[in-house]
Amino acid sequence: MGINIAIDGPSGAGKSTIARKAAAELGFIYVDTGAIYRSVTYYCLKNGVDMSDPASIESALPGIKPGLGFIEGVQHVFVNGEDVSDKIRTPEVSMLTSSAVASNPKVREFLLELQRRLARENNVIMDGRDIGTVILPNADLKIFLTASPEVRAQRRYNELKEKDPYITYEQVLDDVNKRDHTDAHHEVGALKMADDAVLCDTTELTLNQSVKKVTDLIRKTVMSNGGTRA
Ligand code: C5P
Repeated sequence: MGINIAIDGPSGAGKSTIARKAAAELGFIYVDTGAIYRSVTYYCLKNGVDMSDPASIESALPGIKPGLGFIEGVQHVFVNGEDVSDKIRTPEVSMLTSSAVASNPKVREFLLELQRRLARENNVIMDGRDIGTVILPNADLKIFLTASPEVRAQRRYNELKEKDPYITYEQVLDDVNKRDHTDAHHEVGALKMADDAVLCDTTELTLNQSVKKVTDLIRKTVMSNGGTRA
């Protein structure tokens, strides 16, 4: 059993950037569960699955083999052997993942064991929406990372405009608000802070300050476990 750190929070709170940096600093494996959900969406789109029909998505599941791998220390996401790390980052995949894939209870059940196995076999920092509440209820430390919708939209806009010069801040804010709404209202796996999670609001923090806050929390936890398991 590895050390398990769960980081949950809304989209654009900086979870993946912060978790990735903290994991590199502490020698943990970073598991981006959003990327795993996105890889399912990508597979379905590529294979002509009707995304408006939950039964069609469910019947595709047995053929989907998502996985994570490392190339020169950088995490890559694969689905059925194809490296989809970049292809899963489009606005279309983001919206469909939230509205059609992650909202489907059968998809969540399908991905549950993969996530738990990664946590059993490694020291992980795992980020997502229901890691502290559903996937790893006994995690050594649970962090709920958040920031205001406006700050989250601004951060995502700064990232996306490099790839898409036509995108506007208003569009990104609108997407952030829509995804917050669907993520909070999933029938299962809805975004919710675990009762025993530490709240970490990064609205007023720089990236480096946020990383320091998270790594300090993790160090304290690992040390209070005797420091022998890391
Ligand atoms: O974190 P990221 O934005 O890449 O996640 C994409 C979508 O996947 C989210 O909007 C959310 O709907 C879903 N998701 C989820 N549970 C997770 C991780 C992501 O429902 N553990």
